[in-house]
Amino acid sequence: MTPQQYEMRFDGLIPSKYPHLNVGWTADEHGFGWSDYHSYCETKIENMCEGEDAPELPSFKRWQQDNYDEEADNLGFSWKNCELCNGLPGDRYAVTAWNNNNTDYIALRVCQDCLCYIANGDYPDYVEV
Ligand SMILES: [Zn+2]
Repeated sequence: MTPQQYEMRFDGLIPSKYPHLNVGWTADEHGFGWSDYHSYCETKIENMCEGEDAPELPSFKRWQQDNYDEEADNLGFSWKNCELCNGLPGDRYAVTAWNNNNTDYIALRVCQDCLCYIANGDYPDYVEV
């Protein structure tokens, strides 16, 4: 396969309403977005015993930093095929496909070949450069 053939095939795999691919997922998708922070604070308040002082709650930023995991976008092994190229089971990585005005997205689990191409424009081994 030539690079041109690969690019054409890849373009055909991108969800048509969500054409902008970014490496990684949003904080919401990983479970540390604002609504997750809100639930965390709510639970802390709800768990107060009668007569107890209110718990000290971290700022949103602080809470996000405490929960952030550098490896979060590395999703590990999956038996499911790649959600872009339909590649065989293997390690999966987080990619976000955004719509044209960045108001909506789809969270994708993709294979390493797709990730490398999205991140750096690197072709898989079977592409003859
Ligand atoms: Zn793939």
